[in-house]
Amino acid sequence: MKLVIVGTGYVGLVSGLCFAEFGFETICVDKDNVRIDNLKKGICPFFEPGLEILLNKHLEKTKLLSLSSSLSESMVGADIVFITVGTPAKRLEDDADLRAVYNVADEIANNINKYCLVVTKSTVPVGTTREVNKIISKKVKKEKFDTVSNPEFLREGSALNDFMHPDRIVIGCDNIKSEKMMRELYRPLYLLETPIVLTSIESAEIIKYASNSFLATKIAFINQVADLCEVVGGNVQDVAKAMGLDKRIGSKFLHAGPGFGGSCFPKDIKAFISTAKKFNVDLSIIDSVNYSNKKRPEEIVSKILKHFNNNVKDKIFSILGLSFKPNTDDIRDSTSIFIADSLYKKGAIIKAYDPQGMKNAKIVLPNIQYSLSIDESCFGVDAIIIATEWNEFRALNFKLLKEKMKDHVIFDLRNIYNKDELTNLEFVYYGIGK
Ligand code: NAD
Repeated sequence: MKLVIVGTGYVGLVSGLCFAEFGFETICVDKDNVRIDNLKKGICPFFEPGLEILLNKHLEKTKLLSLSSSLSESMVGADIVFITVGTPAKRLEDDADLRAVYNVADEIANNINKYCLVVTKSTVPVGTTREVNKIISKKVKKEKFDTVSNPEFLREGSALNDFMHPDRIVIGCDNIKSEKMMRELYRPLYLLETPIVLTSIESAEIIKYASNSFLATKIAFINQVADLCEVVGGNVQDVAKAMGLDKRIGSKFLHAGPGFGGSCFPKDIKAFISTAKKFNVDLSIIDSVNYSNKKRPEEIVSKILKHFNNNVKDKIFSILGLSFKPNTDDIRDSTSIFIADSLYKKGAIIKAYDPQGMKNAKIVLPNIQYSLSIDESCFGVDAIIIATEWNEFRALNFKLLKEKMKDHVIFDLRNIYNKDELTNLEFVYYGIGK
């Protein structure tokens, strides 16, 4: 089968490379010419562990992957076309902005020359894949194509492994022909006993939003429990550990912190709420999750300000970690960026270090100081804020750092360190929920 993937972001590029790894001839298409030119040279547009190695393997060795900025040329002889473009939140509304998806659908319609399956892999609200079908049917006979929903669950930072070893594959389709083609596509994973959930197009679209909303709910929940722990003298890490040992609950996504960010959860829960409103359905649980998570970074900033009697003018902070989570350079909706910006606007001097995220951060936060190392970032500061749990922040040498710092305050927003150990070293330590 010949595959075409439209959009070479995290989902498109990873999917394209993994399908090439399965042995399929794959063309990745993007309207961004610079991105395509760089990819042709073996340069990835973003940091994702292992991606560049796989890119070079399938460009040069197997030659199963090709790259193009022309959808019409790529579509010749295509069996399956994936839509993997972005679906960000609209600027002033909670709805997902589906313009890119619908534009691609229209472009696909202009270029279908033989039977082909059109698959939405982007995260899209229920009804979108049907709309894609309608757009294409305006120009293409019904027997020449089918539409399928196949949401993607990979996580940035572990995207390749997630794609190759998913917990499940969700396929929403409404006829045998498309089901057969999708099963053939995912046969290599089926052989590894990956469960395939075959369902309606509507259910497949909802599964993606319901899954992300549920995970977001776990995070928002444990953050509120952390607040209670702080007030009454509990320890949220002990609470979460004991909760997580209950198999009905599970330990994942029960880590209290500065709130969730990233390119998916914030926009996906908003879009899910918006869908529910559109259909007059009560999804107030997710509304509360959204509300509490929006407040979360503001509350963290208040906590930091409180330590400095609400005056951080000329105080110097080192922010360790700018990406929304470790192992990615993605800073979209990162709480670290919000915290750095808020303190900067209050007159603080911000020094920052992130192993991969600084290039992107410089675009949105041009006025803070970027450091080449942890040591440089912490030199002469009043406080260190550990904002993202990169591995290299997990074993800081506090004895040495203490000598470099001006004052000795640690805000450990990821609960990496032990309060007693740092207090013994005469640091003022703030964790979350303990
Ligand atoms: P992204 O923003 O990183 O990349 C989107 C790409 O699509 C860009 O390179 C852009 O140039 C390209 N594009 C836009 N319009 C185009 C067009 N008309 N023709 C060709 N290319 C076009 O997006 P992403 O993070 O990969 O997310 C894509 C979708 O997958 C979203 O719906 C997202 O919610 C979903 N998703 C993302 C993740 C993740 O971890 N990033 C995980 C699961 C699902």
